[in-house]
Amino acid sequence: MTAVEILVILDGAPDGAGSLRRARMPVLDALAASGSTTRVAVTPPHLPAGSETGIPVLLGHTPSAPVGRGWVDAAAYGVAVRPGSTPLRADVLREDGTRASADEARAVASAVGAVHTRGHRLLLDEMRALSDRSTELASRGRLRVWDAGTTLPRVLDERTVVVAAAGAAAGCARLLGARIVIPDGATGDVDTDLAAKARAALDAVRGASRVVVHVGGPDEAAHRRDQAQKIAALEAVDRELLAPLAERGGPLTVAADHGTCPLTGEHDRAPVTVVRA
Ligand SMILES: [Zn+2]
Repeated sequence: MTAVEILVILDGAPDGAGSLRRARMPVLDALAASGSTTRVAVTPPHLPAGSETGIPVLLGHTPSAPVGRGWVDAAAYGVAVRPGSTPLRADVLREDGTRASADEARAVASAVGAVHTRGHRLLLDEMRALSDRSTELASRGRLRVWDAGTTLPRVLDERTVVVAAAGAAAGCARLLGARIVIPDGATGDVDTDLAAKARAALDAVRGASRVVVHVGGPDEAAHRRDQAQKIAALEAVDRELLAPLAERGGPLTVAADHGTCPLTGEHDRAPVTVVRA
């Protein structure tokens, strides 16, 4: 019997600012020393750098066209899509360009007939997206509407188990046909419960052909341009997630879906380092 692989996806972990090098990650270092390290291109030339590209690529499916974040979020948050329509992801921003709070985003959602999902995020129905109110907010820079894009095909089945918070990773995985496990305390940010994710992954190994654990904190910290917080998030991953997973002794792979620079807050398309042990 072949041992089940656990794949850990550190969202946005690499960057040109040396965060991975500066973080103290003794478990990852030991995995790299005992296993193999390769560079993998997870952002094909025709696609943007982002989780909606890199996660499907890591799971074995290269999208033919840019993936619509609206489809991903609708799947992640269980929002029904009307037949023939396309869900559009939109972000609510304050006058100064920073992300709105959940309460502010909820108020905008009810004003424009959108669904509030989490934090500053909304889902618009494409057919209703150009309402007077949403157009006005968009023109003032308060509402940023993402491109429609394509959805993902069901190329996986429930033998692939993805442990993640409700968010892009869970949405991609659900569209691809994988089984989703959202542990209590999984927030998709630096305050997530990494030990709960480790337990969920170890529980999921039985009956699975592959277990994938997504960690969103490094990406979120980098978007906030907080490098110290990004480094602390990486060190917590090493201690609280990689350590118990490495203790299992089975195949363990650590990868990233793209880089996110904590100086610019932007994703990057450089190939990522993949450690296999
Ligand atoms: Zn990101």
